[in-house]
Amino acid sequence: MNASSRIPGFYKLDPEARFQKLVEFSGLSADELRPLQQPDAGMSSIANRMIENAVGTISIPLGVAANFLVDGIDYLVPMATEEPSVVAAASNAALIARENGGFHASSTAPVMIAQVQVMDVADPRGARLRLLEAREELLTLADAQDPLLVKLGGGARDIEVRLIESTDFRCLVLHLHVDVRDAMGANAVNTMAEALAPRVAAIARGRSLLRILSNKADQRLVRARAVFDAGKLGGTEVVDGIVEAYRFAAADPYRAATHNKGIMNGISAVVLATGNDTRAIEAGAHCHACRDGRYTSLSHYEKDADGNLVGSIELPLALGLVGGATRTHPAAQAAVKLLAVRSAVQLAEVTAAVGLAQNMAALRALATEGIQRGHMSLHARNVAANAGATEAEIGVLVGRLVADGHVRLDRAQELLARIRAGEE
Ligand code: NAD
Repeated sequence: MNASSRIPGFYKLDPEARFQKLVEFSGLSADELRPLQQPDAGMSSIANRMIENAVGTISIPLGVAANFLVDGIDYLVPMATEEPSVVAAASNAALIARENGGFHASSTAPVMIAQVQVMDVADPRGARLRLLEAREELLTLADAQDPLLVKLGGGARDIEVRLIESTDFRCLVLHLHVDVRDAMGANAVNTMAEALAPRVAAIARGRSLLRILSNKADQRLVRARAVFDAGKLGGTEVVDGIVEAYRFAAADPYRAATHNKGIMNGISAVVLATGNDTRAIEAGAHCHACRDGRYTSLSHYEKDADGNLVGSIELPLALGLVGGATRTHPAAQAAVKLLAVRSAVQLAEVTAAVGLAQNMAALRALATEGIQRGHMSLHARNVAANAGATEAEIGVLVGRLVADGHVRLDRAQELLARIRAGEE
């Protein structure tokens, strides 16, 4: 695909015209992408297959971020989010990154970890070595559970054995590392862990208990970096402000939590749009942010020799293209088609780039005008609607609220009453 994701004025189009741009960009038919426009079509029966006790579905907006160039490939990125400004901010940061070649990404192999817990081991250190000596046998047993995965080039790669001790608790844990290829991998590795558990318990001469993947997916890391032009950002002072804002997050967990939440505004929106497991991704990301014992920023910012801003991010992203809702939800399938990614690794790399873009945009706003100005007009639309304004009244009321600088429900109700009385 050679089409550019730089579509000037995309944000000014109405939703139908934007949809036509997606059709043109992707080369897909309108019918193939239709679930992005009508995500609830046919969902009542699908929802009933997906979860228990289903009574319906809940829709949240699906937007498309423009301008993303990752390793020389253009992407229009589907993002599902209820939060105003997120899609605009990501698109804007991606536009600035384009100036210097966009985002560059890399990753480890898609390796997930399954844990097998063993209790009541009399000689844990001896047991650890006995298990490591049985490495080949255990890897073969694990692979036998998923011949399809092995055929696709994945499968069990290694084992690790850890002794977990606290004042009133001790257990042995075997980690199984599995290359899960294009799967998120939870079911795949859980099946292997369950199959291994009796043999692991026998070798350790203990009692197996939990057998489940770890969401600390630190063998499955994704990295993205970009150079943001100082001039496009607003000058040297803005670059310095962003670097100082980042250092605050790097040094202070209170700030880091909000900084990383901004990253996840972008990442979780892509994760949800593609039908992946948002909780698994969030758990993995925040655990990674704490990997050295203190919660800190997932991203880094520096000023390069030319005075431009260099942003980088590294985090675990257990994303899949097979299994889970990615295969059952029509809108998620259409979102994946629009992205045209060929592997789960490629999806993760684009997602990491979106997280970095989102983060940079938030830092830039915070270090300059403050976050509220960008949020203001969309926020004002919500407030105007909550105040009871009709479609015809919303435009005028939003204009008054933004000019006024007090975007509050009580003020909106007051202004609406005055507009209706002809006083405004
Ligand atoms: P899955 O079991 O549905 O699909 C994976 C299987 O698909 C593989 O085992 C393989 O046999 C097959 N496959 C076909 N083509 C493949 C390819 N190209 N690459 C890899 N495998 C291929 O799904 P999964 O990814 O193992 O599990 C994901 C689901 O598990 C998600 O819905 C997640 O929410 C859920 N889950 C999560 C947790 C957790 O995060 N703690 C726990 C349990 C379940």
